[in-house]
Amino acid sequence: MARYTDAVCRLCRRENQKLFLKGDRCYTDKCALERRAYPPGQHGQGRRKASEYGSQLREKQKAKRYYGVLESQFRSYFEMASKRKGKTGENLLAILETRLDNTVYRLGFAMSRAEARQLVLHGHFRVDGKKVDIPSFLVKPGMTISLKDSSRSLEKFKSNIEANSFRQPPKWLEYDANNMTAKVVAVPVREDIDLPIEEQLIVELYSK
Ligand code: SF4
Repeated sequence: MARYTDAVCRLCRRENQKLFLKGDRCYTDKCALERRAYPPGQHGQGRRKASEYGSQLREKQKAKRYYGVLESQFRSYFEMASKRKGKTGENLLAILETRLDNTVYRLGFAMSRAEARQLVLHGHFRVDGKKVDIPSFLVKPGMTISLKDSSRSLEKFKSNIEANSFRQPPKWLEYDANNMTAKVVAVPVREDIDLPIEEQLIVELYSK
């Protein structure tokens, strides 16, 4: 399974936006963007204003990087979104948001989406009681996501849940903290997604 393996803080610096790819560190003054708020590379501090195409491209890259999705999969999500009713950009974000790894992150079981991806791959989660270890699995209204019984007492989850207690699960998930389960109660709408992405620019880019 292909994934980005280079230094992730470079991605935030490239987008000039905190993408929260490193968990705890992102909330401290060790964050690379706090220290060097300019794009990486030799000419990072001398770049000129982006063109229209450049802005659209950056918005797409930013969305891909937030969710840890590579180009081919992102493109297939866009095709899926364009076939759904409603605004393609909002449909695209809703699809990305309902990936199982993102759902696990939103519920506070992981410190970052990358960690959520690992935890899903390691088989810690159940969907409707059945093991699902595919990070790109898309959850749908009516489905229940739960932590495997034998994983509930793991220190990792206890500490992650505690560290993430300041983040509230989004409205499209109904979380039962006592049982460590969540039910998908709706398809996410734009106001549920707190990411600074201008999805219309992505639609314009792919519509050229
Ligand atoms: Fe991005 Fe986190 Fe690195 Fe800061 S510490 S640059 S938010 S990945």
